Amino acid sequence: MAADLQIIDGFEALRAEFIAENPGLRPNTSVIPGREITDPQNPPALKTPDVLQAWLCARVGLATSSSEERRWLRTLVRLAMRGGAGEGAGQVAEAREGSLTALLRKHPKLIEQARRVAEAVGEMEDDGGVVQPPGSGAGPRRDPVAHAKAWVKGLGGLGDIGGLRVWKFMRLLGEEVVVPERAVRRFLYRLGVLGGEKFSGAADALAFVSAIQGLSRLTGIGVAELDRLMAWHSGRAAGLSGGGRCAAKPRCSLCPLTAGCAWFRFRGEDGADGAASREAASADRLKLRWRDQGLDEMTDAELLAFAMGLGGDSDQATRTADDLMRRFGGLREIYAASLSELTAFRSIGEARARQIKAAFEIGLRLAGKSLVRGAPVNGSEDVWLAYRERYRHIPQEHFIILLLDTKNRLIKAEIVSKGTLSGSLAHPREVFKQAVRHSASAVILMHNHPSGDPEPSPEDFAVTEQLCDAGRILGIRVLDHVILGESEYFSFKDKGAM
Ligand code: SF4
Repeated sequence: MAADLQIIDGFEALRAEFIAENPGLRPNTSVIPGREITDPQNPPALKTPDVLQAWLCARVGLATSSSEERRWLRTLVRLAMRGGAGEGAGQVAEAREGSLTALLRKHPKLIEQARRVAEAVGEMEDDGGVVQPPGSGAGPRRDPVAHAKAWVKGLGGLGDIGGLRVWKFMRLLGEEVVVPERAVRRFLYRLGVLGGEKFSGAADALAFVSAIQGLSRLTGIGVAELDRLMAWHSGRAAGLSGGGRCAAKPRCSLCPLTAGCAWFRFRGEDGADGAASREAASADRLKLRWRDQGLDEMTDAELLAFAMGLGGDSDQATRTADDLMRRFGGLREIYAASLSELTAFRSIGEARARQIKAAFEIGLRLAGKSLVRGAPVNGSEDVWLAYRERYRHIPQEHFIILLLDTKNRLIKAEIVSKGTLSGSLAHPREVFKQAVRHSASAVILMHNHPSGDPEPSPEDFAVTEQLCDAGRILGIRVLDHVILGESEYFSFKDKGAM
């Protein structure tokens, strides 16, 4: 009884997590695109092509999520419904659509079988052309096993109820059933509501259906919703966020069902799969922090751990991030570090070092009031706002030229040189080469002072004067020379120094 209550609580928590991880996607919709179950008690009215499509998908394993396979499906349904004796060979030839031909070669009798199914389904149609599935009257319809048996007998080609095919077929039709796939059986077995994972006969089918019905009664969650929740939790559902805790390697430490789970009670996290479980759990820890606390509450080291990835092992990523923070002293210093300084760390290769640098660069660019091509540059403050974040922390001087058109709109920003500013590093030939190439009418010069103090040195004055003279000779206006410091800037133009 206590375990029952714990299972009820666990499923409630699981359901809440599913909704939080997949907002807008309710758990009581079908996993089959195109046949969403909005009201499991009233599945959509069936037409013969619907049944044929579901039969074909279940029979040969066509995926409704693939646009190519949906096209094949439509072709096959058309061929099967056209009827008429002796048309099979011609129709196969007509269906020469790349790999569809290969499929038909693998199942040479497929169209003939589909045609027989179409005839059988046609006999189930009422006067309005709606298919009344076998057992859809009172009683048997509510018994999934009897219903599955009726479909198997009525259509053929679906195997028996101890196989997956008929259950897939029924779910494709929008029936309230759970396909006894391995991942779900494993989860139910671990939870303790199914005696074993094996599924090979009518007795197993009965046991599975009764486990699902029991779980649905216990938790108050409908079968269709349970289907999706279990698919998500057992790692069977693709394209959903989160979930997958009870996959092949269970991550019990993050599972809300531990208190009611037989597997966890007997094996715990330290069972045969304990190490794998812990490793996988660690990969989720940072994600959970992000989800629960929000990105802006995360520490610098945690953000850095995310930027590095490190194969999804968040414990290792956090350890490496902590080491980096200790070694360099902070994010700014890490940003300023060279690739070789970063790769000196164990577990940081060149690719990861570039990843870190690129992540910083993106952040800095976003933080700046970026100057894009064609944007007017109205003065030194525009330059400061656009470039301060990028250049104020780097330990090397960068000399940059902004090329402007006749209306002072940005054509391009070019790095002319890096190093210590001197006449040779900001030589007029190098500075104006790009201006001439891009037919710039004016330029703004800019460089950073790694010391953080933007006050110009005597060399800065000399270089500015030399470049202004060269600009006058070339007919290219030098509008300003801006020096970027740590928290302020110096503008030669604003200070009347040019
Ligand atoms: S506690 Fe572990 S084994 Fe049990 S359901 Fe959760 S993830 Fe699966």
